Amino acid sequence: MTEMTRYKRTDFEEEGSETGSVASVNLSVQDGITFQNPGRTYQTYSCPVFGRGFVTPLEKFLCAIVFGLCSLIMVMVVLMALKDHGHLRVFPDQIDDVERSEFHGGIGPVKSKVCMTEECVTISAEILARMNTSIDPCQDFYQYACGGWLEKNPLPPGKAMWGTFFQVQDKNQLILKYALDTPLEEMKSEAERKAKLYFQSCVDADGKRETIGGAPLIAILDELGGWNVTSDSFNAAGWDFQKTIRLIHNKYYLGGLFRWAVGIDDKNSSKFVIELEQGGLTLPNRDYYLNKSIEGDSTLSALLSYMTEVGVLLGGKRDNVRYQMIEVIKFEQRLAEITMPEDQRRDMEKIYQKMPLRVLKKHAPFVDWVKYFNSAFGLVKQNVDLDTQVVAYDLDYLKKLNGILSGMLSKAERLDKGIVLSNYLMWQVASAMTRVLSQDFRQARKVLAKALLGETESEERWRECVGDTDGTMGFATGAMFVRRAFDESAREKAENMIERIRYAFEKSLKEQNWMDSRTMQAAVEKASAITYMIGYPAFITDPLELDKKYADVNISADDYFQNNIVLGQHALKENLKLLNKPVNKTMWSMTPAQDNAYYASAMNQMVIPAGILQPPFYSPAIPHLPLNYGGIGVVIGHELVHGFDDQGREYDKNGNLHQWWETDAIENFKGKAACFETQYDNYGLNGRQTLGENLADNGGLHAAYRALEHWLREHPEEEHAGQLPGLPLSPRQLFFLGFGQVWCSTATAEADKLTRLNDAHSVSEYRVRGPLSNSKEFASAFRCREGHGMNPKAKCSIW
Ligand SMILES: [Zn+2]
Repeated sequence: MTEMTRYKRTDFEEEGSETGSVASVNLSVQDGITFQNPGRTYQTYSCPVFGRGFVTPLEKFLCAIVFGLCSLIMVMVVLMALKDHGHLRVFPDQIDDVERSEFHGGIGPVKSKVCMTEECVTISAEILARMNTSIDPCQDFYQYACGGWLEKNPLPPGKAMWGTFFQVQDKNQLILKYALDTPLEEMKSEAERKAKLYFQSCVDADGKRETIGGAPLIAILDELGGWNVTSDSFNAAGWDFQKTIRLIHNKYYLGGLFRWAVGIDDKNSSKFVIELEQGGLTLPNRDYYLNKSIEGDSTLSALLSYMTEVGVLLGGKRDNVRYQMIEVIKFEQRLAEITMPEDQRRDMEKIYQKMPLRVLKKHAPFVDWVKYFNSAFGLVKQNVDLDTQVVAYDLDYLKKLNGILSGMLSKAERLDKGIVLSNYLMWQVASAMTRVLSQDFRQARKVLAKALLGETESEERWRECVGDTDGTMGFATGAMFVRRAFDESAREKAENMIERIRYAFEKSLKEQNWMDSRTMQAAVEKASAITYMIGYPAFITDPLELDKKYADVNISADDYFQNNIVLGQHALKENLKLLNKPVNKTMWSMTPAQDNAYYASAMNQMVIPAGILQPPFYSPAIPHLPLNYGGIGVVIGHELVHGFDDQGREYDKNGNLHQWWETDAIENFKGKAACFETQYDNYGLNGRQTLGENLADNGGLHAAYRALEHWLREHPEEEHAGQLPGLPLSPRQLFFLGFGQVWCSTATAEADKLTRLNDAHSVSEYRVRGPLSNSKEFASAFRCREGHGMNPKAKCSIW
């Protein structure tokens, strides 16, 4: 239950299975709270006027014409520039020997028909605009593919990160905005109407939220026993830790100290189980706390400013708030010390520990576990007892937490340290709520946002609200999205690609010489058993079924705060209901409008949402085929290979965690994986933390390339068909170019640091450099000299 929960609390978290996605688009600084959703603006992809929300049919028409003309002019400029040369340059690192006119592996002039359809012209113009053709692809492919884009794309206002991926997300948000702006009476279901009301409450056009200020939060803090920081009424002697933690976690579905959810049991994937794991830091990574002093560290002092400001807004006296908040940060530093670093949490076999509550009680008696869990399961009329099984991911954390808390909770220390603990828990509640309160609270967050993500202006409110609506009512928004933006023919095409990529991957598996035949056979069976879901879950197109999903949710158009409480409680109940149900393998862990994808180990399943089945990942136009393989094909390959990365390989074809490989094969795998670890360490990244994603990137690229090769062998006529205007590249070269351009991106130094610290994915640039440096096929397609630049002699490979 890790990856999804780490990023955002949504109603899609209910599966709680181990998932690996193709990209982490959200940067959040706290559980349940999307602090900043980078990648929301309306540059370049569609006509700018579309983004401003005042579009008449005439404007649309004019815009389309202007856009078309712009594309044509761009292409004509390129064509003229190329006229004298007839081909792209050959660079010193490229082998410029024979058969330059041959398509295969050549970059010279090509004897093929140039496709001049509007679609080809547009695609070509977009690709060329991103490139810097003066760069030698063998020397620096990232600059070759993305240099033009990098030059033309400074970070837009409000963004900490920006890139091709985010542009797709921006476009999807625009589609959702228009959908959510549709009049209530035109909505197709009650669920969609609720989503619209929620969106309205977030946008808050009449400013109701501003008049309420912190009142709704103060009411909750009072219910929880009050906050010593802001109120004189806090009674330390009468404070009830057990009750407070139950209410925070199991009534309001907020965080603090640790976290839990119902998820698929890693060792028995047909059943759900209660899963517990570490958690409870305000900042996104333990490294922000360790060996740092509050005065001497800019992030910790920003955190203190944020905390102080919130305390003052809620009625506290500045000096007093500040003094008490320093103690809270020191307490979080102690939590950071016992928090296991992400790179040590990858081996699920090692950190999985299943036990009945009576055993957990022995190890970590700081919580009355039966009472605690029953306060949650009572909501869905179930109950647990001392024999109920739970899985602790890293029991050691809970043991150490118990050590810290037992002192604080003992009577002698209670009045002093107990107040710190209570202050910490109340802070967890307050901090989670600031973003749904009035502008002054949201403003207070910005100090911390700046420290974590760099100087960014606020992005448009509607974008935040679209993101929120999709995050909390994503099946309803998904229904709206697919009606407007999903071409059903994409499903069949994607299925066909999945089958071809799976076939290519299985073929590679059979060619491995480092695996014994039994392990290999089992691995092939696992690859064959991977199921997939494409586009969206079927039920969302049936208004009755969709309405059932949100039947118990009451949304008001003018109470954003309460709506969030209601949706949090709804998400909690949906998750709790799973406990005694059989695992349903058609559950979705991502919203249909997301431009992302994932693989779930416990289900041995990949999911490709509608949101990513569009350019530059996918286009139905035939000349786009090599680009489709480089785009969505690599995404598919990536998700498939997650089943065989350092974590995924521990799960068998039925999604069960156990040792199903021979010991020698495991040792050989580890040796090969170590090569990748060193390679990415040498890029200045955390090679261990990013290992799974790097293996998926490398293996996915390889599998997708081989699938394209098979396709070209079946369709030799396509080698020379439909060349893109101004782009004398072979289909193989286009494949790599398409792949590289998915990752054109830029970020503030702070956001870059956050990605490196926290993300399981490598930073974008190295998601291109890493896999291509290991790819013989790339070197051959661009005729790169061995031992130079992008074609080092030493290559890492597994799949
Ligand atoms: Zn991934």
